[in-house]
Amino acid sequence: MLQEIKQNNLNLTVSSQEMGMKRRLLLVLTIVIVIIWFTSLRNRGTIGLSESVSSELEIAALKQNLAKLSSECRSWKPSRLDPHLPVIYAITPTYARPVQKAELTRLLHTLMLVPNLHWIIIEDAEVPSSLVANLLKNSGITYTHLTATTPKEWKLKEKESNWKKPRGVQQRNTALQWIRNNLKADDQGVIYFADDDNSYSLEVFDEMRDTQVVSVWPVGLAGGLMVEMPVLDPKTGHVKGWNSAWRPERPFPLDMAGFAINLSHFLKHTEAKFSFNVENGYQESEILRHLATRDQLEPKADNCTKVYVWHTRTEAPKLQAEKQLNKKGLKSHGGIEV
Ligand code: UDP
Ligand code: MN
Repeated sequence: MLQEIKQNNLNLTVSSQEMGMKRRLLLVLTIVIVIIWFTSLRNRGTIGLSESVSSELEIAALKQNLAKLSSECRSWKPSRLDPHLPVIYAITPTYARPVQKAELTRLLHTLMLVPNLHWIIIEDAEVPSSLVANLLKNSGITYTHLTATTPKEWKLKEKESNWKKPRGVQQRNTALQWIRNNLKADDQGVIYFADDDNSYSLEVFDEMRDTQVVSVWPVGLAGGLMVEMPVLDPKTGHVKGWNSAWRPERPFPLDMAGFAINLSHFLKHTEAKFSFNVENGYQESEILRHLATRDQLEPKADNCTKVYVWHTRTEAPKLQAEKQLNKKGLKSHGGIEV
């Protein structure tokens, strides 16, 4: 009996030992399974993360490509202009100075948005500059690049007040001559004088496109006023005068940016051009006196109630530090075109 009990005890001891072993085995197995599961989870996470990082990079690269392509598309235009829409011949005199590239870039990027426009750009220089040539070449715009120097006696000296001498006369006349030599009376078009420093809304180009003789509209920040503009007769809708404060006695007291001329009409009037031999402020009157009477002027911009162009002027930048560098034979820009 005692032996039987001992035996049983032994059996019990053995079975409890087995149980312990099994439990430990189970524990180890569970730990191993948990480790395997956890590792696989982590691995899955890592793969997912690197996959999503690489696809994000891919999307970013694709977006960049898309932006580049759309900017190329923007500057791509069929080389031929649409013969069914009057061409705007925008005439811009320009001269070398620190702000030149900034001004021309601003203007170019406006003109690139105007349909059927031919930009005639005339440098006040002996030879065409690579700065202007490259800007035009890479733009996709239809253009003619000319040069014409201002005669020495008419060139403004540094610090000389700009109202003392007319600016852009030689260059605008050179462009007008190019038009006379290269375009025909039955070509449909409009001539506009777009100085390189003004600010243009796209609407001004829409307004001028159907000019039959000479069209006119308000110009912001001109002639010492917030707006210099034609005054209309409410009954006839014709121009009856101007609100000009500066030299209001001029036959056409308006700004160069405030009118456009029909191309065929211009070609018929061979004497129409600018001149050095007129009083200060009379350039606009000088060309227009050959082309229209006040009554013939076509008011645009919602009967001259809207401002779509501003006679802005850019302050000459202060470059003292650059001058100090120059004295040492150095430049901040080295080979960089600014
Ligand atoms: N301009 C030029 N040569 C000069 C000065 C000016 O070709 O020596 C150009 C200038 O780039 C601009 C136009 O002539 O397109 C009118 O000049 P500016 O803007 O200085 O005149 P303002 O605004 O005083 O009428
Ligand atoms: Mn100006």
